[in-house]
Amino acid sequence: MSHILTDVEMLRLSYNDIHTAIQNAAPKIKEEFAPTLFIAIGGGGFIPARILRTQLKAEKDGKKRNIPIQAVGLVLYEDMGGVEEKVGTEVVRTQWLDFSTLGQNFTHGGLLGRHILVVDEVDDTRTTLTYTIRELQTDIEKQLALITDETERERLRKETRLGIFVVHNKLKPKAAELPADVAYFSAVDTPDVWLAYPWECDGDIDAHDSLRTHNPKI
Ligand code: 5GP
Repeated sequence: MSHILTDVEMLRLSYNDIHTAIQNAAPKIKEEFAPTLFIAIGGGGFIPARILRTQLKAEKDGKKRNIPIQAVGLVLYEDMGGVEEKVGTEVVRTQWLDFSTLGQNFTHGGLLGRHILVVDEVDDTRTTLTYTIRELQTDIEKQLALITDETERERLRKETRLGIFVVHNKLKPKAAELPADVAYFSAVDTPDVWLAYPWECDGDIDAHDSLRTHNPKI
């Protein structure tokens, strides 16, 4: 059946669509990355990180343990140019990691030796993810500089890993490239369409879900 959309192609997603996609992606993430810390980019990464946590409990001493979730807040300002505006795209931090809490059992800020998985809902232009990884790399370097013993420092450097998980990766040219040593996982690759997440619905959520029959086939 053909469908008419208002201005852009829109893919409406139900909570269950997202839950299932994350559940299906989880075994590969566990096998290839085995995260020990999630960093959710708010607000879109919060619910995906929480869903993923259930699928990826870490086993320790025969017990299943929850992997901690930390949150960061970032806003992407895209301006269109113009006389008074700065041309380009800027990411602004609204919240960052609290190293006094994260690092309370360590001599550093708590990132070292961990497999840190950054979680967001969508990789669109990749600007936000690239910014986040760059900032985390700077924090990791600062923490490594606090380790005076060189052997220990290099051990921690090797053990610290950065990865990304997004529910949707839009297949399109990206504005920035990620470093080669950053692991990358996406649950679903999509064309460049607008993704309408259930948590953004401010109207009738049942209507949102039923309109999924109008979704373009991907
Ligand atoms: P970036 O361009 O940096 O990869 O993505 C920036 C942010 O734009 C995402 O974290 C997300 O909040 C928002 N965004 C980009 N594409 C979509 C989309 O298709 N649907 C929704 N709901 N948000 C999007």
